[in-house]
Amino acid sequence: MLLIPCPYCGLRDESEFVYGGPARALPDMDAQTPEAQHSLYRPINPRGPLRELWYHSGGCECWITLTRNTITHEFEDDLS
Ligand SMILES: [Zn+2]
Repeated sequence: MLLIPCPYCGLRDESEFVYGGPARALPDMDAQTPEAQHSLYRPINPRGPLRELWYHSGGCECWITLTRNTITHEFEDDLS
């Protein structure tokens, strides 16, 4: 069971959340380079800390951004 630290509701079970994927800046839609176009589809799957979007559908109904370690699944955000 994964406990997710919502900044508004506190620690909550992951069943209350919808995963929104990695948080990243939108690519430059005007760029015509192959690298810019490829960045739209390239998955982000690093080992270690990753900024992610989570929607708290079973609670405050807010989108939040948290940092989760993809190896340990521990969240690095501190609610205190
Ligand atoms: Zn919440």
